This record gives sequence, C-alpha cells and structure tokens, in this order.
Amino acid sequence: MEKLLSGIHKFQADVFVPNRDFFRKLVDGQHPQALFITCSDSRMVPDLICQTDPGDLFVLRNAGNIVPPYTPNMPSGEAATIEYAIRGLGIRNIVVCGHTRCGAMQAVADPSCTANMPRVRQWLEHAQAGAEIVCTCYNHLTGEPRAKVLVQENVLVQIEHLRTHPAVAAALASGELKLHAWVYKMETGEVFVYDPATGQFNLASKGGDSRGGDSKCGEKLAPAAPPLSRRIVPNEPLAARVG
Ligand SMILES: [Zn+2]
Repeated sequence: MEKLLSGIHKFQADVFVPNRDFFRKLVDGQHPQALFITCSDSRMVPDLICQTDPGDLFVLRNAGNIVPPYTPNMPSGEAATIEYAIRGLGIRNIVVCGHTRCGAMQAVADPSCTANMPRVRQWLEHAQAGAEIVCTCYNHLTGEPRAKVLVQENVLVQIEHLRTHPAVAAALASGELKLHAWVYKMETGEVFVYDPATGQFNLASKGGDSRGGDSKCGEKLAPAAPPLSRRIVPNEPLAARVG
C-alpha cells in the first residue's frame, strides 16, 4: 500500500496542482469519446495505451473483457454501464479490447486453472463460444498461436454479445454507434484492430483503422486460418433493406 499512498501525494503535487484548470473543467461533467471494455488485468492500462486523459474513456472492466448477453429481468453491472454509456452519455463508439497473456483466457482454455474458483468458472462460461470456435476451427494450432486466436475470437464473441443489448441494437440500427474489436499485444505494446473486410486483426494505423496508414503493412497478431471473416462487424444500418 505504500506505493499507493505515496502516489496520492505525488499526484496532488505533480499532476493535479499544475493542471488545476483542466481538472476544474472535468467537474462540470464528462463527455467521453468511447466506452472502453477491457480486462481487469493490472497490466492493461487503457489511458496509457491510448494516451488519453481523464474524461476521455468511459471504462468497463472485468475478468476476460466479457459482455454477458442481454438477459431480460437480470440486472448486471455490464448491462447498466453499456446502456448508460449510450443513452446517458451519448457515446458513439464502443471498443472491446482483449490482450495477450490473458489469465482469464488461459482459464477458458484450461478449466483446471479454476478448479477452486467456482464463481470465476461460472463467469467464464460467457467466453465458452470462443473456446469452442478455437477447438473447431483452429485445432491444428498449439501453444502461443492458439492462445492468441482465443483472445481474438473472444473479443469477437463479446462484440456479438454487445449487439444483444437493446440500447446497442437500437443505436446500431440508427447508425449512431460503431463497434471496434481490438487486441493489445502485451509483449510489444502494439494494438491490433479487427478489419471486417479481411477478417484479420491488423496493426493499428494512425489513420484510425487497421488498413493503410503507416502501419507495418500486413502485420497480424495471429493470422486467422480459416479467416475470421465469417463474423463481419457491420457498423452500417440495415434498416432500408427490408420491404
Ligand atoms: Zn485478461
């Protein structure tokens, strides 16, 4: 705790006081740019990775960056946070960001890790689809490549769960919301962004997506084979197509 307590004093003296005007503006309210859903892992620090400031990211964290599917009459912290982000704060972008070396994903792959943690095991059932996709489509992979595709697949599964939430479904249908699937590579500090056009997670470019820009062209976290493109992340409204 010593580090935390001395940090509080250091923050007051070195950060808050010199930036008093900035922090004073935050008192009036928040206008975050995105809802950032990520893992509780202590090595994942969204504001550090994105170089964002207080007020920029509305953050939802849990073990495995999981979004339980919407369940009527079953309140949850995740459902409330997602709904508030969209309807209370008017957020128009949601990022689900997984990470390599994720302990939750290791436990999904090897349930013996959670033998004495029944609540954790129950929670990680929400990631079971990713595990079964890996067993079905990537059974030829072992070790690190297999672990990486599970992280990727889990992010995509959680994006699908997001869509089941009424506030998300409605905002997507009206074209007011975009969903983004990211993976943070802990070993290099790089972020890989899912590109629905290619079905791959590509190194993030300065242009804001995974294509073009000055990214190291074609670099992938774990090349998907078969491609992940069976699950497109449609950000365009479908509305006009019917009747
Ligand atoms: Zn994790």
